[in-house]
Amino acid sequence: MIDFDKLKNILQQHNSVLLTTHVNPDADAIGSEIALFKILKRIGKQVHIINSSSTPYNLTFLDKENKIEQYKPEKHSNIIKQVDLLVGLDFNRSDRLANMRDDFINSSAHKILIDHHQDEENFVNDFFVDPLYSATGQIIYDLIKKTSIVDLNYEIAEPLYAAIMTDTGSFKYERTTPEIHYIAADLISKGVNPTQVYDEIYDQSKFGKIKLLGKALNTLSLHGNKQQIAYMILTQNDFNSFNTYENDTDTFVNFTLSIQGVRLGILFIELKDGFKVSLRSKGKIPVNKLAAEFGGGGHLNAAGIRIRSKNLEEFIPVILSKAEEYTERE
Ligand code: 5GP
Ligand code: MN
Repeated sequence: MIDFDKLKNILQQHNSVLLTTHVNPDADAIGSEIALFKILKRIGKQVHIINSSSTPYNLTFLDKENKIEQYKPEKHSNIIKQVDLLVGLDFNRSDRLANMRDDFINSSAHKILIDHHQDEENFVNDFFVDPLYSATGQIIYDLIKKTSIVDLNYEIAEPLYAAIMTDTGSFKYERTTPEIHYIAADLISKGVNPTQVYDEIYDQSKFGKIKLLGKALNTLSLHGNKQQIAYMILTQNDFNSFNTYENDTDTFVNFTLSIQGVRLGILFIELKDGFKVSLRSKGKIPVNKLAAEFGGGGHLNAAGIRIRSKNLEEFIPVILSKAEEYTERE
């Protein structure tokens, strides 16, 4: 249970606030930052948004005033030291801050996390975390509704709608409750255009991104006794051929689960300095636990792992065989 009155008090008591989120941010990350930024500006705070990664091009429409800055140590270390309050959104492990981690940890500012992942790491003063929420954006919505810290208006509603739409898989994941539809209705009643938000996020792809998807689909393979696992592989070579980046792959892994009989899907991505594994499952297969065995994390049905300086070819069979154990168990 999140103590919203305490969260409101903390936000009100500090004058300068820095918002940040996880590496390779998604729409929940960016949408929650923008919505909280608007709330804090409206109650008179000085606010920075500084992220380790740049904002993916399909999410820049959420940052209409160009407030999000990409972390540069020489420019931002002092700010991180000097602000009164650091707010981490949509993550719960310090390694998700990537190259901002040390500055965040070493700052003497009061630190809080607002998040909906499980198994948090103890590196902040206060946690406002509840894994029952479908999106961090839903927590920000509840902050407004339960404390009346500000009124909900269009400029806050749009980023919250983007956060909730994407983290519910466009209203189809397990936590797609009546409540989440009431919230969506409330946000739409403030003027949010669902067709336009969906189009901006999912239907404005660069040509190369769809070609990259084609390459990923070409590598699609089934694994396991009952062929319940499907996986795809993308290499740095593929990214280079189509002039694309890691964040162009955001929805690719979902195709694995659209195959009849498949209950666990994996996308292996070679990065410049290691690799990333995206995991998705159906039903009760806990891919967050599978990810945790390799130092990753996430949610029951969507999780990820980032491994530095390891050989992808070596790790694929190891992860596939662990994945098979999980499909056999559930
Ligand atoms: P995606 O596969 O879309 O990048 O990530 C799915 C979910 O897994 C995200 O919501 C995030 O919570 C989690 N996740 C992805 N990568 C990592 C990682 O490297 N470490 C942790 N702890 N969680 C991750
Ligand atoms: Mn989220």
